[in-house]
Amino acid sequence: MLRAANSLLRTGSSPNQWQQCMKISSSKATYFAAAPNPQTNPDILYTGLFINNDWCKSKSGEIFPTVNPATGQEIAQIQAGGKEDVNIAVAAAREAFKLGSPWRRMDASERGSLLYKLADLMERDRSYLASLETFDNGKPFSASYYVDVPFSIKNLRYFAGWADKNHGKTIPMDGDYFAYTRHEPVGVCGQIIPWNFPLLMMAWKLGPALATGNTVVLKPAEQTSLTALYMAQLTKEAGFPEGVINVVPGDGKTGALIANHMDVDKVAFTGSTEVGKLIQQASGSSNLKRVTLELGGKSPNIILSDTDMDYAVEQAHFGLFFNMGQCCCAGSRNYIEDSIYDEFVERSAERAKKRTIGDPFDSTVEQGPQIDNEQMNKILELIESGKRAGAKLVAGGERHTDLGDGYYIKPTVFADVQDNMRIAREEIFGPVQLLIRFKNIDEVIERANKSEYGLAAAVFTKDLDKANHIVQGLRAGTVWVNAYNAFGAQVPFGGYKMSGHGRENSEYALQNYTEVKSVIVKVPQKNS
Ligand code: ADP
Repeated sequence: MLRAANSLLRTGSSPNQWQQCMKISSSKATYFAAAPNPQTNPDILYTGLFINNDWCKSKSGEIFPTVNPATGQEIAQIQAGGKEDVNIAVAAAREAFKLGSPWRRMDASERGSLLYKLADLMERDRSYLASLETFDNGKPFSASYYVDVPFSIKNLRYFAGWADKNHGKTIPMDGDYFAYTRHEPVGVCGQIIPWNFPLLMMAWKLGPALATGNTVVLKPAEQTSLTALYMAQLTKEAGFPEGVINVVPGDGKTGALIANHMDVDKVAFTGSTEVGKLIQQASGSSNLKRVTLELGGKSPNIILSDTDMDYAVEQAHFGLFFNMGQCCCAGSRNYIEDSIYDEFVERSAERAKKRTIGDPFDSTVEQGPQIDNEQMNKILELIESGKRAGAKLVAGGERHTDLGDGYYIKPTVFADVQDNMRIAREEIFGPVQLLIRFKNIDEVIERANKSEYGLAAAVFTKDLDKANHIVQGLRAGTVWVNAYNAFGAQVPFGGYKMSGHGRENSEYALQNYTEVKSVIVKVPQKNS
């Protein structure tokens, strides 16, 4: 069984596994046939701080609970990193970064080998990691197993390949000089991870940082520390030297300690725009550390009347509801051309009502709980604001109360949404799809761009001229054409405007983790 699943992983690049995950709803048997049974109560092996390849408790003795969102029950108590702990972790990362250290002396190709080894260990433990992710985060096991874990593995392998290929340039400088550039690691990198894709966002950040020779102090989100802690142990098993990867769990206070630390050279953050601003400010008021931010979104999905209706309805559904709507690039604002609007609304509502919701370990379930009580209440409050503002509720619209104490929300669809409603402006980060009418293309481009965010967008049409015109007009870091949520380690991802700056994935991500050193050497023109 496991071997079958692994071969799916290896051959899984085509068709795209995110799309496969969507297809699970229509052809469950095909994909679930290869999945092993999940561990519905996985062993919790690590709850401490991981510093210098060792496990320790927090100096202050502070702990915090992590909760299973499907039941509201506590899973474990985790050690919370305080000031002293962050100082120790940063010092360990600094020591590991010193010239002459095993990490700095290591061949670049060997760094790549360690990343390959880490990916292999994840593949070995794929089923456990997927179970742990589902247990702590609430996402369906099908998604953890077919998307989060294999995409994390692919990401690490992609960056493993870059380790010995990120070379500089020789430059035809004026005068009697030989000039070249070196791409050197930035140094100690703080990495602050969100809870919506705990493993995947960790992989997106670890891959390029380690491939380019940096050291890391990583903080998982307080809701979802468990897979990051297990991964820490795997980095030790893979053979990374002491101090190269340190994992310090904790909440925003721990994150702020990293963001403000004078000996951290760079911070990479994925999370809310609100916290992104704080991190940027922390850099400005400490040591001007480099900052890359992947923040919120309110992505437009533009659907023209010539599109294949069945396909577009399903893709729009997937684009929003995947991961319980907890995606920074969720296709929240669906702009649908006037002539197909009413039919699109009807079909989208039907599809949302059919969405299976419940225990994320149940293989027939498409939607699990939201991450926590706070997020659930925030989403429910926005739903109420939509009702009050006069948007037409055509599906869902409330908490799912038949599923115990889990944080479940019924798949919700609003029609007749106006651009100025709160639900159309604010990031909801939940299973709430907005259907908005438009009449002509230039008008819709302008409306789509009228957002403080610019993370992603999509257009559905059979007319490539129209598609290209819209692609050019949209101010977003990713634009999908006749697709949604298609991702690859090879393709950059990041935001325009308040959706952040810097790009993750792809060759572009290497720039986030390297300083360019210019070396200029005098070349005498004659022998003296
Ligand atoms: P959300 O609002 O979706 O929960 P956040 O942006 O608050 O997401 O959290 C994303 C990550 O940022 C988490 O790891 C969280 O602990 C961390 N974080 C929260 N506040 C701060 C802060 N002030 N400085 C640094 N990190 C923070």
